[in-house]
Amino acid sequence: MNDSRHQNEVTLMNKVTIVGSINLDTTLYLQRVPEPGETIRIQKLITSGGGKGANQAIAAQRLGAKVAFIGAVGTDDVGQQMLNLLRAAAINVDGIAQLADHTTGQAFITVDEQGENRIMINAGANTAFTPEQVRQSQPLITTSDFLIAQFETELKSTLEAFSLAKKAGVKTILNPAPAIASIPPELLALTDIIVPNETEAEILTGVHVYDEKSAQLAATKLADSGVSIVVITLGKAGVYYQTASQQGLIPALRVKAIDTTAAGDTFIGALASVLQPDFSNLTEALLFGNQASAITVQRLGAQDAIPFKDEITPD
Ligand code: ADP
Repeated sequence: MNDSRHQNEVTLMNKVTIVGSINLDTTLYLQRVPEPGETIRIQKLITSGGGKGANQAIAAQRLGAKVAFIGAVGTDDVGQQMLNLLRAAAINVDGIAQLADHTTGQAFITVDEQGENRIMINAGANTAFTPEQVRQSQPLITTSDFLIAQFETELKSTLEAFSLAKKAGVKTILNPAPAIASIPPELLALTDIIVPNETEAEILTGVHVYDEKSAQLAATKLADSGVSIVVITLGKAGVYYQTASQQGLIPALRVKAIDTTAAGDTFIGALASVLQPDFSNLTEALLFGNQASAITVQRLGAQDAIPFKDEITPD
């Protein structure tokens, strides 16, 4: 195709690789959770693809990036189902190992009539894939613009991936979720952008994060640990960012949220899909992240709620 618009889109397409988790989520809706020894009927059961890694991969792909995944599933039927789901989303699954002695990751979620949820996770293959398996996927990493990781997989595998990325000049994004109290300094040294939410930022820094001022304090602490760009997502308040030369709050869009599941995953996927690898359009990319996740929060579910690029209207 010789159309110049098309060519422009092609050159702007980021290549994003995710090292992360793949889960099958099973959500049970019930009046109340049973007492010990009690049997009850559930009202509704929904299964869907999940895992922070897979959610972020789907988000980055739908929002314009070319995405590859590095991770693991079991050789069980669930693993095949999850591979098919990622393949159907046009994600490169060559870096996903199928481990014979492990089950595929699964999350079991109950939601009662009060909307209270309880989550139980079988990490399975997600925590069984090794630095050696990461090394086998080295070309996927070194040919990327961005590498993204979270904490639902083994730290040593993430470290290996970030170190391969760094050597090749690939920019790294760390989503420190689920929260941990301290991140090993060697991982922070390999991180270009850290993207915690309010809770994660608070657990990492000890600063109660609830507004722009407290976010600034927490961001400064995180920047002091050597990460050059800090981005703290603040739910309906938007996002606070800090670099060596600029900082500020980019407010969220005012929408009626009905389910905030995968808001953060959408934000991170969106950011990686449009950010220039030299970070020159950071504020525009953060705004795009706000726009994308504002759509996610207006829809039910996780992966089902994540929008496609053409649903986002330019300002
Ligand atoms: P997480 O899902 O990791 O807890 P947040 O709740 O901070 O992450 O949400 C991530 C982003 O999603 C926010 O920075 C914002 O852009 C958007 N968002 C979240 N909640 C809302 C909301 N109620 N209204 C509009 N945008 C929202």
